[in-house]
Amino acid sequence: MGSSRAHVVLLGPPGAGKGTQAGMLSRHLEVPHISTGDILRDEVQRGSELGIKAKGLMDKGELVPDDVMVGIVRDRIAGADCAEGFILDGFPRSVPQAVGLEKLNGVIPSLLAVSLAVPLDEVVERLGQRRTCQGCKAMFHETLNPPKVAGVCDRCGATLYQREDDQKDVIEARLEVYQRETSPLLSFYRQRGALVEVDGTGSANEVFQRLVDGLGAGA
Ligand code: AMP
Repeated sequence: MGSSRAHVVLLGPPGAGKGTQAGMLSRHLEVPHISTGDILRDEVQRGSELGIKAKGLMDKGELVPDDVMVGIVRDRIAGADCAEGFILDGFPRSVPQAVGLEKLNGVIPSLLAVSLAVPLDEVVERLGQRRTCQGCKAMFHETLNPPKVAGVCDRCGATLYQREDDQKDVIEARLEVYQRETSPLLSFYRQRGALVEVDGTGSANEVFQRLVDGLGAGA
């Protein structure tokens, strides 16, 4: 697949399946999957200055400041591996971030924003049951998509854990932040004629098929 349709932003509430779909789309289009959440969690693990500041906000389900996030994405998409495109997962998360992204490269004519729509009660259930791999970041669901061996990643064998911010009280805060800060991005991209709306319910493979159909990216 060429570069014409390879700049994709994944939108949707936490637990909508952005990480899973971004991974699948990244393999399909052969462009990098950039998860700002994963970048921040790596900084937290390293104990960097940014990581220490970000952890306090992430643990409460709040957003890391827009200028910091635009800076992180600016540096990451300047990488040679992003020359043909990228899949952004978890960025932009606010209108100022989306404007920041436009300012970075000028408007990317081929940029499409995919909105994964999942009812709120379902995302709450998914997040509460989510287990994440400490190694390769693969995600599992305790009942719908359990690992073959409890607590162990099928893909890389590392240990699974429950993210701090997948605990019940933080989930509520994250959903509130989503409604307030992130959901206005749907009309932002709709106005630009760049929004693709995808039903995010069902199996990962079913959602992926809808997603590639919506993008016209041929699976
Ligand atoms: P995620 O893995 O995308 O659910 O992100 C986990 C947490 O990282 C979020 O709840 C925020 O605290 C922070 N974060 C990730 N991406 C962004 C972003 N684009 N803007 C602000 N904060 C972010």
